Amino acid sequence: MKQSFFIKTYGCQMNVYDSEKIVELLTNGGYRQSSNLEESDIAIFNTCHIREKAAEKLFSDLGRISKYKENKIKSGSSMRIIVTGCVAQAEGDEIKKRNKSVDLIFGPQNYQNIVDALKVKKKKYVYADFLCEEKFESLPIKNSREISRLVTIQEGCDKFCSFCVVPYTRGAEFSRPVEGIFFEVKKLVEMGAKEVILLGQNVSSYNSNIFEDGKEVSVKLSKLCNLISSISGLERIRYLTSHPNDIKNDLINEHHNNKKLMPFLHLPIQSGSDKILKKMNRNHLRDDYIKLVKKIKSKINNMAFSSDFIVGYPGETENDFDQTIDLIEQVGFASSYSFKYSPRAGTQSSLKHLDMVNEDVSDLRLKKIQRLLNKQQEEFNLNFINKNEEVLFTNKGKKNNQFVGRTKYLQPVHVLSDVNIIGKKLIVNLENLTSFSFHGRIIS
Ligand code: SF4
Repeated sequence: MKQSFFIKTYGCQMNVYDSEKIVELLTNGGYRQSSNLEESDIAIFNTCHIREKAAEKLFSDLGRISKYKENKIKSGSSMRIIVTGCVAQAEGDEIKKRNKSVDLIFGPQNYQNIVDALKVKKKKYVYADFLCEEKFESLPIKNSREISRLVTIQEGCDKFCSFCVVPYTRGAEFSRPVEGIFFEVKKLVEMGAKEVILLGQNVSSYNSNIFEDGKEVSVKLSKLCNLISSISGLERIRYLTSHPNDIKNDLINEHHNNKKLMPFLHLPIQSGSDKILKKMNRNHLRDDYIKLVKKIKSKINNMAFSSDFIVGYPGETENDFDQTIDLIEQVGFASSYSFKYSPRAGTQSSLKHLDMVNEDVSDLRLKKIQRLLNKQQEEFNLNFINKNEEVLFTNKGKKNNQFVGRTKYLQPVHVLSDVNIIGKKLIVNLENLTSFSFHGRIIS
């Protein structure tokens, strides 16, 4: 009987993509996916290192599963435990020291070796080289009929924001060759995908090349979107995550001209204070960001924005925080993510223990920023009530005959339909709003 594996994914969409690939590698390698962690022969934890809590959650999960492993061994059975992802890259041997029951550890650019490593009884248990090119050349494409699919086009980062582990865990920026991305998107569309989300830690710095008319031509994110939009049957293209310094006219023009490229841009700023932006090594000013948003809106009037914010960064005063609030009020976001600062081992900001913001103060700031961001999201959504919007349906809902889709701005929409509308892009009248999702009526 085939050995079974269970995989748990922590963190971002890049990890979701990586987990999908690990599942496909193992399935092709003769293993069977299980939905039961405790009963599986191989337990895989695909980890995230962005927040302290996510890494701590891993160690508490490992503590729990290692008890199951002990019991299995006592009863004559076995279990192997594998840690993959950014915590694996950052902590490597340390994971084994903290939990002896872990068998194999793979950094994010090494999991292509998972099947081989499971077969051989080697002493090597940490795989943490930066092998981006090798990885993408050997990854399979998951056979699935999902409507919205993730496609990693870029990995790593050269920007070294002082709070971020990505440059250390995912390595230097690497852009996948255009041909591999084009082939993957085409395959996904043939399997039924209507939307692709191009992923990268710093996707807007994508930079590759192709040969056109015998000449080598540079391909930035704008041209890549243009190239893949020629794939017949593909209806929507999204990308994340971007850095404001990389958004240039070519990408803005592509948004203006390419109707498949959605008018929704996730553009993290983290803080509205120049002093904090400098400490974070973001390499731009608050005004640069505000001007960029205004410029984009002046060219594409239906463009909406989301962002990321960190509150309580070391040295953040009340005045710095007020500037963040002011920036949010000036820009107006459709949705956003906000977090309380937590130092990540190995990053620049974790080395300086000065000026830590009191936890209670950070908590209050987080509540205040979230209240404002939620209010802006609600106001943004209320503008759509009684309007007709294009919705791409991706899933069945919880109720009978209910289907769920998303607008161009990623707003969830529920409708009732007697016929299966998964994969269809339909015009829906948005009748009412519950929390952050709409209920609507199909118009056409
Ligand atoms: S640009 Fe993004 S991925 Fe790169 S270091 Fe900064 S926060 Fe991390």
